[in-house]
Amino acid sequence: MLQQGMVQLQEASKAVLDSAKERYGQYFRTVPVTKRTQFTLYTPAAEGEFGAPLWKSICSFPLQSKVKAHQKRIDGLASRLIPASLPLLDDSAITFEFRVISSNAFNAFCIPGGKVIVYSRVFEVVKDDDELAFVLAHEMSHTIARHWGEGVTREQFRKQGLEIPQSLANWASREGVWNAVISTNILRKLDQGSLVVMTLPHSRDMEAEADKIAVTLMLQAGFRPEAAVGLWQRLADSKGSADSRFSQWIQGFLSHHPSEVSRGESLKQYIDAVRAESKAKP
Ligand SMILES: [Zn+2]
Repeated sequence: MLQQGMVQLQEASKAVLDSAKERYGQYFRTVPVTKRTQFTLYTPAAEGEFGAPLWKSICSFPLQSKVKAHQKRIDGLASRLIPASLPLLDDSAITFEFRVISSNAFNAFCIPGGKVIVYSRVFEVVKDDDELAFVLAHEMSHTIARHWGEGVTREQFRKQGLEIPQSLANWASREGVWNAVISTNILRKLDQGSLVVMTLPHSRDMEAEADKIAVTLMLQAGFRPEAAVGLWQRLADSKGSADSRFSQWIQGFLSHHPSEVSRGESLKQYIDAVRAESKAKP
């Protein structure tokens, strides 16, 4: 009986999806690596337009001298990750760029269009280049998977009748992601409209998807994806850590990158499966 109900439900959802595809076909796409069907109203060019003013504002400040060495390290890793990302990009409007900002918080995020911001505190937490590469690859993966456009589309549909910036602002403030972002001097200078662009939190599913795409990116670029497991584990452990300084640093990051022990574990299983599959290939 239950099984029959499930079949009916699956058939009904398929019918809804099919009719939506007929009507909005151009807005459906398949996410690279996970092959999930996604619905987004935003092209990469449109995403880039949203992100451009914010990226321009950030780049209008000269690189702080205390982060120059970090920037050099990031640029080195990016020179391997960017070529590895090309087979996963279906649109030339996405161009990855990276910028280090001095901040006491552990955080990294991607502005729509492929611009990745990494806070200087990250360099005190990561143990090696593999862990740092994972932070970069994870943020790049949100862009590869076009999560921003998908999230905005979802919110747009959910709150029809509201202006997009307002609905996003409400969402971001509900998710508690404002504080981490507003805490840096540079970002404080930006207007609220720009902040909305980057504070969009990702859902748990999107986080897991970004982790998986990051594994592919890391393998392609010759990094060790297993490093991510240790990093997530350490971040999860430190949530209730006695070192309150450390747990303070990472609070902002965890508010939009939920990190529970199971995340590291499921990622490890995934990496094992990917490695096994690539060995099985002739
Ligand atoms: Zn993320």
